Amino acid sequence: MNKEKQTIHDFDLNHIYEFFSNSERQGPGSPEETLKALSFIDGLTEKSKIADIGCGTGGQTMVLGQNTLCEIVGVDIWADFINQFNQNARNKNLHNRVKSIVGNMENLPFQEEELDLIWSEGSIYNIGFDRGLNEWRKFLKQGGYIAITENTWFTETRPAEIQNFWQQAYPEIDTISNKVAQMQKAGYLPIAAFILPETVWTDYYAWQTMRRESFLKKYNGNKAIEAFVAAQQYEVELYYKYKAYYGYMFYIGKKI
Ligand code: SAH
Repeated sequence: MNKEKQTIHDFDLNHIYEFFSNSERQGPGSPEETLKALSFIDGLTEKSKIADIGCGTGGQTMVLGQNTLCEIVGVDIWADFINQFNQNARNKNLHNRVKSIVGNMENLPFQEEELDLIWSEGSIYNIGFDRGLNEWRKFLKQGGYIAITENTWFTETRPAEIQNFWQQAYPEIDTISNKVAQMQKAGYLPIAAFILPETVWTDYYAWQTMRRESFLKKYNGNKAIEAFVAAQQYEVELYYKYKAYYGYMFYIGKKI
């Protein structure tokens, strides 16, 4: 396979996780955008329960913790991230309310209608947008909300190079109107959809560039690592070339 056509999904998970350890966020996002999304959610009280699915080390979860009074449970499949999450919660003195579990988003340990809000930034692609919306809905109370970010096409058509790259990396990538329609078909009232600013990508990629240097040094001569880094660099190049055509959207829906 042409190395440039590999995606991050083709590499050793341990390397990927090590690469993203000890970072504030593991995907494009920012506290400002998390707060903007939160501003669309009504009716949260100290009795409300939030699940943050694919929480990573908890960057966005801590923002939710600091800006609500709710009980919050982060779920992630990677135990190291959950350890860092717990440390984060202790450092911010949120650990009484902001907890976490190692778990799989394909088999979540919640009761039906247990949750007031499901949050998921940069993660639902792991199960797929449509499947996640449909399978997670049962855990929400009637009138509960879901807030997720998802890679999305901004235009109806786009150049073949970027079309092919994302088609391979994430075939569910689609246009804003199709994503909103999927949300509605899955039984949610679409409340808001907004584009995350370019800075969430440029900040994320700037951090990656720094990290790549030390990673390459540590794994000097390791071909798999070099290929992983090359694939990442290719993704960054494509972003700068084609950012008019795609990006992350926040989608907020209400269970009806
Ligand atoms: N929400 C965080 C992390 C996004 S990265 C942020 O925005 O910074 C995607 C996360 O999904 C990773 O932490 C990864 O470990 C987690 N993940 C991947 N597959 C998963 C699964 N099947 N179940 C739960 N978490 C998963």
